[in-house]
Amino acid sequence: MTTEQSFDYDLFVIGGGSGGVRAARLASQGGAKVAVAEEYRYGGTCVIRGCVPKKLFVYASRFHGEFEDARGFGWDVEPSGFDWTKLRAAKDAEISRLSQIYLTNLGKAGVTAFEDRAVVTGPNEVKLVNEGRTITAKTILIAVGGTPFKPEIEGAEFGITSNEAFDLEALPSHVTVIGGGYIAVEFASIFNGLGSKTTLAYRGPSVLRGFDEDVRAGLTEAMETRGVDVRLNASPKKIEKTNDGLRLHFEDGSSLETGLVMFATGRVPLTEGLGLETAGVTLGRNGKIEVDEFSQSSCPSIYAVGDVTDRVNLTPIAIREGAAFVETVFNDNPTKVDHSQIPTAVFSQPEVGTVGLTEEQALEQVGAIDVYKSQFNPMRNTISSRVERTLMKIIVDQASQKVLGVHILGPDSGEMTQALGIALKMGATKADFDATVALHPSAAEELVTMKEKSYSRP
Ligand code: NDP
Repeated sequence: MTTEQSFDYDLFVIGGGSGGVRAARLASQGGAKVAVAEEYRYGGTCVIRGCVPKKLFVYASRFHGEFEDARGFGWDVEPSGFDWTKLRAAKDAEISRLSQIYLTNLGKAGVTAFEDRAVVTGPNEVKLVNEGRTITAKTILIAVGGTPFKPEIEGAEFGITSNEAFDLEALPSHVTVIGGGYIAVEFASIFNGLGSKTTLAYRGPSVLRGFDEDVRAGLTEAMETRGVDVRLNASPKKIEKTNDGLRLHFEDGSSLETGLVMFATGRVPLTEGLGLETAGVTLGRNGKIEVDEFSQSSCPSIYAVGDVTDRVNLTPIAIREGAAFVETVFNDNPTKVDHSQIPTAVFSQPEVGTVGLTEEQALEQVGAIDVYKSQFNPMRNTISSRVERTLMKIIVDQASQKVLGVHILGPDSGEMTQALGIALKMGATKADFDATVALHPSAAEELVTMKEKSYSRP
């Protein structure tokens, strides 16, 4: 006869961010005894120093362009200044409110929430570092997320990352953002909009590698037009402290003076010092936890969700992975997360919205495609005299006529993309798009009025 080993908890979650909190609440609501530990602040990257404060800063930075555009519509607007400390304080108040909601919701769901660092000390054991207490759990879920990565160049310590960017004492007069991914283009747009002289230094030939090529080229050009000094093929080599600020040197021998350097050079999973070796958990590139499609690690009692697994590093995906984990482990319903056709937005200025395959990916996966492409000056720009063309691209599988991808560069493209995601998930064809009546006048109507294909490939 075998006796069930008894544990302090059915589930112990390390990390109080989006994925961990969702899993903890769902498991507890289903009757499991659950605890979660968070070493910093409940809410995780998204709430504390990611999506939420970033979007608040994006809203703040957009007013600059709005004030400019307003003149064409008859408004006599002359902003008298921008108060960074006021924005920072308002942002702090909002994230404190949200963080408290996370804690309250955990309590309501019956989850024990520790405000302490927890490390793994065995397959079914964690230790609360400050309290010094060891706790056992039948299942452990690692949801500790990631952290910004800085390249190992001389003087890298003089540069900040997005972690610090949210809490700067003052708005920098000249900032140089290194990188060309989501965070780099978003922060360059924020600083530029708020009034800092802004340089974006990217090592590649066009920002947002992996996105649609026309979107990449269009965004690079639009950011330049809006005033960002975009330096391409610029690989950072060294940062030097000077009397006035910093000097950033590039591999090609050029350099520039700047007040602040911000690295937006990617993020890495936060597994260092987490004790995962004590449970035989296999780690992959950059320390990510290797998991199967049910988020189970090489140690059967340990699972991982979200950015720490470096699959698709987006908040809604971490939340889905957390929910699927609970279905699999606690509800006897093995559930995988579908990582395809994920709508995503880059909150640059102008904004990017994208869902499905890029032209190149579609070509590789299905062979023959039709491309519908439109570039137009949105109505709002006519009177405001802004020169910034919106780009829309629809990628269609030639054989089935299914829409494989939609890519938009322009205002509100993120909002449009959320709805487009439903159509793509349902398997919409180009004919379905055509059969949908246009909503007039809007920019989005272009998505259903592009009747003539622009070209076919191969
Ligand atoms: P990304 O991986 O998107 O971009 C990293 C950038 O840094 C790339 O342009 C990369 O260049 C460059 N880079 C990497 N290493 C070096 C180096 N040694 N020297 C110079 N440049 C370097 O990471 P982010 O930090 O921008 O964002 C992390 C993730 O967070 C994103 O992938 C996304 O999943 C998520 N995120 C999502 C947001 C949203 O949904 N709106 C917003 C912000 C983040 P190269 O292209 O040549 O490799």
